[in-house]
Amino acid sequence: MQTITLLGATGSIGESTLDIIGRHPDKYAVFALTGNQQIEKLAAQCLRHNAEYAVVNDALSASKLESLLANLKAPTRVLYGVDALCQVASAESVDTVMAAIVGAAGLVPTLAAVKAGKKILLANKESLVMAGGLFMDAVKASGSLLLPIDSEHNAIFQCLPANYQGADAAGVSKLLLSASGGPFRGWSVEQMLSVQPEQACAHPNWSMGRKISVDSASLMNKGLELIEACWLFDVAPSQIEVVVHPQSVIHSLVQYTDGSVLAQLGNPDMRTPIAHALAWPDRILSGVENLNLFEIARLDFEQPDLASFPCLQLAFDAAAAAGDAPAILNAANEIAVQAFLDRRIGFTQIAQVVDNSLQGLDFSEPDSLDAVQESDQKARQHSMAYITQIES
Ligand code: NAD
Ligand code: MG
Repeated sequence: MQTITLLGATGSIGESTLDIIGRHPDKYAVFALTGNQQIEKLAAQCLRHNAEYAVVNDALSASKLESLLANLKAPTRVLYGVDALCQVASAESVDTVMAAIVGAAGLVPTLAAVKAGKKILLANKESLVMAGGLFMDAVKASGSLLLPIDSEHNAIFQCLPANYQGADAAGVSKLLLSASGGPFRGWSVEQMLSVQPEQACAHPNWSMGRKISVDSASLMNKGLELIEACWLFDVAPSQIEVVVHPQSVIHSLVQYTDGSVLAQLGNPDMRTPIAHALAWPDRILSGVENLNLFEIARLDFEQPDLASFPCLQLAFDAAAAAGDAPAILNAANEIAVQAFLDRRIGFTQIAQVVDNSLQGLDFSEPDSLDAVQESDQKARQHSMAYITQIES
């Protein structure tokens, strides 16, 4: 029996994870579920999965959740705050932590799970983007098993040898990172000027939370994934190529020096990578339908359009600059995406906000979690001030 803490249970990844756990009650038990705003959903999840603990952000949400749980006669104990997230992520009886909080808020609890040596299922790519060096050092020091949930990274993981010790030793020449291109693939900057949040959140292939949906539409998601891949697989940005593949059937590929290219295919449903990582090295049923190649019939590939989607170029630049540039990129992007969702700025201004932070702030080499958080805060303040200046 694997005992699991699910950070971000109420989100899209959280729900898909609980769907799989619910299919295998003989294999997985829930220790703790955490959520931010959807308190009723969290209460129902706690009841259904018999959670020992639930964690929310503040005292008010905690008392609301407690009364809902009392009405449902669920025995779940309620805690709140960042320390409580860290506590349930590192508790002795927990084997596995699904890190599925969105954004920088996921960093501290995920790192707590890493330091406690847990098996980490990593969906929260932002934590690697912000603090990849510290994160990977902590993984090595604690002996944590780190398994990628992001579909592209999970695909690459599946295409690499089990004893992977770096690209050279494995004979890997390139990682080919798939990108759907998002809802605005083929659009010009002019066409994207008046795009609304509802359009940006309507992804053609994947159903996801709002922040990652906007990131997918701007291609910043691919940029964050590029940085994530560098840390996970110990490669340089130049060893990664982004391939736009609109059908989202090939989730990524690995090119070897002998000319072989291995790919992982499947229907675009996050339950496949989640089931893969939960059961690894075994395989379990995920509820995902078999791929029907006859129905798919064709697979297309294109170069990414960096001129229309400058966020991807900004991420390549931040990856090359290293230091805290990726943390600055990530923080400015979080602020810009929220401002776009709040209709304060236009879609194409997201890249402008991120660029302004990268241009306006000096880079440093953060050597501690405090230093990373300082860079994050600095970029948040800088981009908020810039948004106030440009908002229409
Ligand atoms: P979501 O918005 O649907 O869910 C986010 C979860 O985080 C919710 O449970 C929410 O309550 C919690 N949360 C939000 N802010 C918080 C805060 N300040 N403190 C504590 N908890 C907070 O997002 P999602 O689509 O499930 O994505 C989660 C993560 O997984 C993101 O990092 C995303 O990039 C990554 N990811 C998602 C997908 C996908 O298909 N949805 C695919 C690959 C990677
Ligand atoms: Mg992805």
